[in-house]
Amino acid sequence: MPATENTTGRMTSRSTDRATEHTTTGIPAKSSIAPLLAVEGLTASYRTDNEVMIPAVRDVSFELREGEVLALVGESAAGKSTVAHAILGLLPHSAEIEGDIYFRGWRMGDLSSEELRRIRGDEIAMIFQDAAASLTPTLTIVEQLAELFRAHRDYSESEARQLAVEALSRLLPDAQRVADSYPFQISGGMAQRVMITLATALEPAIVIADEPTANLDAAMRHETLAVLEQLRDERGVAVLLITHDFGVVARLADRVGVMYAGEVVEMADVRTIFRHPRHPYTFGLLQSLPSIDGGRRLTPMRGSPPDLAALPPHCPFLPRCNKAISRCRIDEAPTLQPVESFAVAGGSEIPEATEGTAAADLATAGEPAKGADGASEAGRDAEIEVVHRVACYNPIVVPRVE
Ligand code: SF4
Repeated sequence: MPATENTTGRMTSRSTDRATEHTTTGIPAKSSIAPLLAVEGLTASYRTDNEVMIPAVRDVSFELREGEVLALVGESAAGKSTVAHAILGLLPHSAEIEGDIYFRGWRMGDLSSEELRRIRGDEIAMIFQDAAASLTPTLTIVEQLAELFRAHRDYSESEARQLAVEALSRLLPDAQRVADSYPFQISGGMAQRVMITLATALEPAIVIADEPTANLDAAMRHETLAVLEQLRDERGVAVLLITHDFGVVARLADRVGVMYAGEVVEMADVRTIFRHPRHPYTFGLLQSLPSIDGGRRLTPMRGSPPDLAALPPHCPFLPRCNKAISRCRIDEAPTLQPVESFAVAGGSEIPEATEGTAAADLATAGEPAKGADGASEAGRDAEIEVVHRVACYNPIVVPRVE
C-alpha cells in the first residue's frame, strides 16, 4: 500500500481512503468525510446505592481522525477513563448514558450486538492501565492471544497460535517463552508488552490507551510510547490517550482536551495548549509542572476537585480560580466557546519534545519552534486552521506561561 499523508501531516502506509472501504468488520464507512470516531454530547452518570446520581462525564464532544493522537488530560476523577469506557461499552450497569458515539459515521447505538462486538475487537482496542491485572491468570499468554485470531479472524488453532507468537515477537525478543507462560510468570514490563500486543494484534483503527505508562519504569515507559508512535506513524492508527502525564502528552499528542469535573474545559492543538493556555485550570496544571532545569518556580494548584454529587450551578473551578470575576459567581457555568482561530503548522509536531522533559519546557518556550530544516514553523503556518475552545468567562489574556 503506497505511503500517504494523514490529517496530521505524517506519512502513513495505511490508506487515508480506508474510510471508504469495507472494513474487516464488514461495516462500510457511512461517508468518506466522516471521522473515525465522533463523540457528541456524551453524558455519563453513576447511580449510587443511595440512588444519588454522580455525573462523571458531562456533555463531552470531540472527533478523532485517522493517524491522530488526541489526549484527554486532567486530575483524577475528571471523567477521562469514563469517556474511554463509554466508547467501548464497558461502563457498569449503574451508569446512565446520554449522547451519541459514531464510528466511521455510524451511530453505534443503531448497530447490532454482533457489529458492535466486531468493532470493539477489530477496530477499537484498549490498552488498560493495569496490564497484569487485565490478563486472564488461568490461561497462558499464547492461549489468550490465539483466541483473538480465532474469534475475530476464523483461524485454526495452530494458525492462531503461530500468529500469536509472531505478534509477540514484534515486542518481545523471547516471544516463545513468554507465549508459553502464565501472566503471573512474567514481569510487569512484559505484561505491558503483552497487553499492547493484545490491543494491536488485529491492527485496529483506534487504540484507546488509558494511562499506558502508569507504574512503568523509565525504560519501559519509553518503549511503550515508542510502540504507540510506531502504530501511529506506520499504520495510521488513531490514539485516544488518557493521561495526567504532560510529558506523555508533549511527546505523542496532536490535540489535547483538558477535562475538569467531567467536562472538557479547553481543547486545542498540543502546542497551543502548552504555549497559550487560556483556561485558568489548564494554566494551573502547567504551572505545577517541574521545569527540567529548575529555572521556573513550581506552583502547586490550590484546592481539590469538586464533589461531583453536589456540583454548583456556576463554574465548578470557581473555588480554586484566581481569575474569577463577578460574573463567575452570578451566571451559570460557561460552555465551550471558540476564543481564537489561527493557523498552525501541519501536524503540530514538536521537534524539541522529548518525553519527560518537554512539558514544562514547552510551556516556557519563547520562540517559534524550528522544523528539521531549520525553517520557522510560523513560516509554513498555512495547513491547518485551529479553533481554540475554552469554557471560561475570563480566559487568561497573557497567554504565555512564565
Ligand atoms: S469561568 Fe470564572 S471561575 Fe471559572 S475558570 Fe473562568 S474565570 Fe475562573
